[in-house]
Amino acid sequence: MADYELPPLPYDYDALEPHISEQVLTWHHDTHHQGYVNGWNSAEETLAENREEGDYSSTASAIGNVTHNGSGHILHDLFWQSMSPEGGDEPTGDLADRIEEDFGSYEAWKGEFEAAASAAAGGWALLVYDSFSNRLRTVTVDKHDQGALWGSHPILALDVWEHSYYYDYGPARGDFVDAFFEVVDWEEPSSRYDEAVQLFE
Ligand code: MN
Repeated sequence: MADYELPPLPYDYDALEPHISEQVLTWHHDTHHQGYVNGWNSAEETLAENREEGDYSSTASAIGNVTHNGSGHILHDLFWQSMSPEGGDEPTGDLADRIEEDFGSYEAWKGEFEAAASAAAGGWALLVYDSFSNRLRTVTVDKHDQGALWGSHPILALDVWEHSYYYDYGPARGDFVDAFFEVVDWEEPSSRYDEAVQLFE
């Protein structure tokens, strides 16, 4: 049953140069993201073994590992799909209209998102669809799961862990956030928004 797999990057490792280096994408995808996939599989194995043996002594920590590593896998997958070498534009269509409706304007949303990205201790800035309030919202998550809002469907993900930018930008995280907007690709976030609206509205 432990069979989560690391999907290949949806573009070449050097495709986001000069904004994100080939070296960082290689380490980030092949080592860090792979580690979350492995950690999730391993925690699932522990949970299954414990249920079978009726020994729950390591179950609580395995549940925590599922949340941490599972969220890490899900968010990295979304992060890769939130960028492309053809990116750098503003959203269009229904998602653009909704951003304007819920945040006032694209620029107002972008300012809020950049503030979230600069504040995360080591984690994520996310644009989410909040299915309780039926609105788009900015969420800041520490690690992969601390500070998440229940019922949120992530639409766009920016990884601001140090492994995501330090080799390229050192402590200048804001320069990395600017670089993200040079390669942000709204195609996948737009379809995720459409899915969320179909599910929840
Ligand atoms: Mn990462």
